[in-house]
Amino acid sequence: MKLLVFGTAGYHPNETRDTACLMLPEQGIVLDAGSGMFRVRGEIVTSTLDIFLSHAHLDHIVGLTYLLDVLHGREMSRVTVHGEQEKLDAVRDHLFSKHLFPVDPPFESAPLMVGAAQPLAHGGQIRSFWLPHPGGSVGYRLDWDDCSMAYVTDTTASADADYVDVIRGVDLLVHECNFTDELQDQAVLTGHSHTTPVAEVAAKAEVGQLLMVHINPLATGDDPVHLGKARRIFSQTSVAHDGQVIEFGN
Ligand SMILES: [Zn+2]
Ligand SMILES: [Zn+2]
Repeated sequence: MKLLVFGTAGYHPNETRDTACLMLPEQGIVLDAGSGMFRVRGEIVTSTLDIFLSHAHLDHIVGLTYLLDVLHGREMSRVTVHGEQEKLDAVRDHLFSKHLFPVDPPFESAPLMVGAAQPLAHGGQIRSFWLPHPGGSVGYRLDWDDCSMAYVTDTTASADADYVDVIRGVDLLVHECNFTDELQDQAVLTGHSHTTPVAEVAAKAEVGQLLMVHINPLATGDDPVHLGKARRIFSQTSVAHDGQVIEFGN
């Protein structure tokens, strides 16, 4: 399975990272619609697009306003944005307020049944689950016959959290890691994760590999999450970068 990494920053873009956006092009699936969303345009190979939102903070939805360009000239049979009902309402009422954006949203909305599995348009299934975060967030587990992944962002990581059992055994865990351990207080205050608990989650859930995203945009050095520390807990850990292509599963 191919995963395209379009946005790996949390909060705001910087010189090398846009905000949250991932794509599974063969499945017509986009995970979050941050500023990296503009890159979807060049990778569409399906006639449907299903965009799954973790929540409605701006770094995860601003790219929905890019869809007029992303879809320009494309013959799409359907474009659907999935999220919790109250988040979809907020997107429609606020992001697509005439004061913020001049045109009606070019997609249909579908409320999530959080906790229930639902079939995906091109095979496999997706299941959402609650994550603790100010205002609430949801994570996703995606399963196909021969591979699986989970997307967990905008939450405080803990090996004791309920979601660890839900993501158990996936081939690829994409998990936020906005802060280093030194900024644990900031992580707790803002409902985000820091290095050690993220690696502990991956180890306890026995995933195949861990890919860290939602990186602090102020951490512009070579080692924004102290990768060596994470790898001592879970060796198959890496830090995502924009433009990365990941192959996972068989
Ligand atoms: Zn975020
Ligand atoms: Zn958030």
